[in-house]
Amino acid sequence: MNLANWLRATALARPAAPALHTGDVMHSDYQEFARNACSLARVLTAEHGLQPGDRVALFMKNRVEYLELMYAVWWAGAAVVPINPKLHPTEAAWIAGNAEASLIFTDDGASFAPDALPPACVELGVDGEAYGRMTTEHADLTMPHVLTPDDLAWLFYTSGTTGRPKGVMLSHANLLMMSLCYPVDVDPVSAEDAILYAAPMSHGAGLYNFVHVRCGARHVVPVSRGFDAAEIFSLARRVRQVSMFAAPTMVKRMVEEAGRSGADGDGIKTIVYGGGPMYVADITEAVATLGPKFVQIYGQGESPMTITALSREQICNRNHPAWAQRLASVGEAQSCVDVRIVDEAMQPLPPGVPGEIVVRGLAVMKGYWRNEEATRQALADGWLKTGDIGYLSADGFLTLTDRSKDVIISGGTNVYPREVEEVLAQHPSVVEVSVVGQHDPDWGEIVVAFVVPVASAELDADTLDQWCRAHMASFKKPKKYHFCEDLPKNSYGKILKTELRKQLCA
Ligand code: AMP
Repeated sequence: MNLANWLRATALARPAAPALHTGDVMHSDYQEFARNACSLARVLTAEHGLQPGDRVALFMKNRVEYLELMYAVWWAGAAVVPINPKLHPTEAAWIAGNAEASLIFTDDGASFAPDALPPACVELGVDGEAYGRMTTEHADLTMPHVLTPDDLAWLFYTSGTTGRPKGVMLSHANLLMMSLCYPVDVDPVSAEDAILYAAPMSHGAGLYNFVHVRCGARHVVPVSRGFDAAEIFSLARRVRQVSMFAAPTMVKRMVEEAGRSGADGDGIKTIVYGGGPMYVADITEAVATLGPKFVQIYGQGESPMTITALSREQICNRNHPAWAQRLASVGEAQSCVDVRIVDEAMQPLPPGVPGEIVVRGLAVMKGYWRNEEATRQALADGWLKTGDIGYLSADGFLTLTDRSKDVIISGGTNVYPREVEEVLAQHPSVVEVSVVGQHDPDWGEIVVAFVVPVASAELDADTLDQWCRAHMASFKKPKKYHFCEDLPKNSYGKILKTELRKQLCA
């Protein structure tokens, strides 16, 4: 089993079907897409010593070559390490080192300062002639390397509250099952469809490519390489039959843009939303503005895009007696996983009683990369402990009530307080710091830092802002600072984040 077989099969059966597009301009049909990936795989093996089982990191914003590279890596039997392009190069280098990646692809091949990467990791670029040569060196389609279902395909770095990011190990079988659930639980796919990558391909949005490759659909990367609501509306009108993943903040932006420009979502078939809470008022307005185009998913890196789904029909059918409750839920378990609510002893709780959401099944990760302790904590008898709190209704719909982790979800992107705290705590004028999320109508949540300065120091928000800018990705920077004399603590000396959040609401 190898996901690259899906690309090869489509290329053989439908060679001239349009495949990769930048905006509405075709970059390659399926034959060229597969040949480019296969040729790349052979050149990387012959000239860069790539071996089955090796890891190859991708650190770039969305572009069609992202898909070529993913399939090339699998063709060669290696695994992809997608790195969030918004990360600071020092953070990306840490991930490349932890994954022991032998290669890292960036736009220009020169994104890292000399010596910034681990010595065994070579940076290669996608812009320029060298990459073009690698994709055209071989014209025949050889068979992808033979792998087992359990072999590592995708090593996705997430962060925990314990600090450093952890590598979530997803196998070819995990991604395949996730993909097969899509047409069953989320939305049917046909060759006429186009999947649009407006959210980062390094995250869940990129994983929606597989089922669309299998069905011979089109793949479209916006010219902006990211999310721009006006661009999406205009592109969809030309491309037609467009499906896309969008975080709730993106949906909100699209509704605002539609209000401004009069766009009605013409050309958009489906918007799959998830990754953070969607408020009932917001989804109601979105459906009223753009029509019955929405499907919700709930997932996490450890069971990617695949815990529950709330279908188009469930979102739109106001005549159903349970419509209102269902709209506030995240839907039913997807076909390849079981979902339970448990107490602290992992005992199942009855309907309506909140507890931790646990998931078991074929999309659930193998574990964390070289981190047995974290794996043991996350997987209990094969049940993934999501860290989310929720309850199930008697008819199987899951409602999320809280996050037991302290992750802040700002604009659909996770910010891990501990990472921000680590940077701020390094500032010589900072005694103590704690970072929490504050509800924000625009971003979902914003990052807020409570800082205790050194008594004699004159510390202000601008100074800390510059400090953060120099040490971490800009999206993680606190949007607000509160300076205080001390932080609320419990009897063990642990900072009480709940108290800090209350202060923000007061
Ligand atoms: P990540 O691992 O980055 O995909 O983040 C996963 C977390 O995002 C989950 O554990 C939830 O806390 C949150 N999340 C994902 N989907 C939803 C959703 N549909 N509604 C509310 N929160 C969600």
